[in-house]
Amino acid sequence: MNLILLGPPGAGKGTQGERLTADGGLEYVVTGNILRAAVKAGTELGVQAKAFMDAGDLVPDELVIGLILERVRSEEAKDGFVLDGFPRNVAQGEALDAALSDLGRDLNGVLYFDVPDDEIVRRLSGRRVSEAGRVYHLESNPPKVDGVCDVDGTPLIQRDDDRPETIRKRLAVYHEQTEPLVEYYAARGLLHTFDGTAPAEEVEAHLRKTVSTLRLEDAV
Ligand code: ADP
Ligand code: ADP
Repeated sequence: MNLILLGPPGAGKGTQGERLTADGGLEYVVTGNILRAAVKAGTELGVQAKAFMDAGDLVPDELVIGLILERVRSEEAKDGFVLDGFPRNVAQGEALDAALSDLGRDLNGVLYFDVPDDEIVRRLSGRRVSEAGRVYHLESNPPKVDGVCDVDGTPLIQRDDDRPETIRKRLAVYHEQTEPLVEYYAARGLLHTFDGTAPAEEVEAHLRKTVSTLRLEDAV
């Protein structure tokens, strides 16, 4: 099972990706978390990526593509992966296709979360994350104890790029650079669209149904 989660920032990719991969069967590759870890560790990649991330721009392809394809080719991903936050433009999509073709593997499906811009602004403004990148929301998905992760007890923070000015910039970047991927995958019959405005449990149930169907098709 090789899957992509596609949708605007704040659409619920992380929330659903955590659930879909909780049993450990599929390698979960979260581009934003990988980049944020590099920034925190102060690696050369992190230093270069930081300015783009703070501005709400995409980090240049030269920095991102090799990094993510390395994970796709890794031993951990040999039974399948869920990509979250990659590809984010058509060039990245093409690079992924080329890498999979080299590996003799195919994409099974692209799970696309459809959420309008006004809801995105609400979601990103209320999002809080743990150190490990677990996702909460002040209203729709609060932690059991204020300000603390349910799972590991680390403090919850607001991401620097989840502030109003940057949110608007990220949405513009999404519409301009990432949204063309919807058509890119639809044209190949890989796109499965979900109403991302439904409650998380409903979205999860729909996703699981689709993934089960894709598994059956893959087994044929
Ligand atoms: P969200 O969860 O809100 O969609 P991410 O955590 O995926 O946001 O991404 C945060 C930032 O990391 C992006 O605004 C961008 O700067 C950078 N980033 C993440 N994925 C990519 C990618 N595939 N290509 C370029 N930049 C990326
Ligand atoms: P993405 O990874 O696509 O950027 P997240 O999973 O981080 O999105 O979700 C963004 C914010 O919206 C988080 O605060 C999350 O708790 C909240 N959220 C996710 N799914 C839903 C949903 N179905 N309904 C309401 N809020 C949601």
